[in-house]
Amino acid sequence: MTPAIHQCPICGTRHEVTRARAEMALGQQLCCSPACENEARGRSHKQQLKSWQHLNEAAAFIVVLAILGFVVVLKW
Ligand SMILES: [Zn+2]
Repeated sequence: MTPAIHQCPICGTRHEVTRARAEMALGQQLCCSPACENEARGRSHKQQLKSWQHLNEAAAFIVVLAILGFVVVLKW
């Protein structure tokens, strides 16, 4: 079996990946080294935190809308 060529998403290095690993990655580009893998993991964790922050902002907005709606109902 010939190895697949992947481009590291962290440092851009082209490197060979065994077919088995390439299939495990499901079309995603694999990192060239454990150091780059750690870096990639750190980045995706930060992205997750960011999306949580967005969720919190959306929730706060909905709460404010709900309070405003409640005040309007009370005034009636
Ligand atoms: Zn790399």
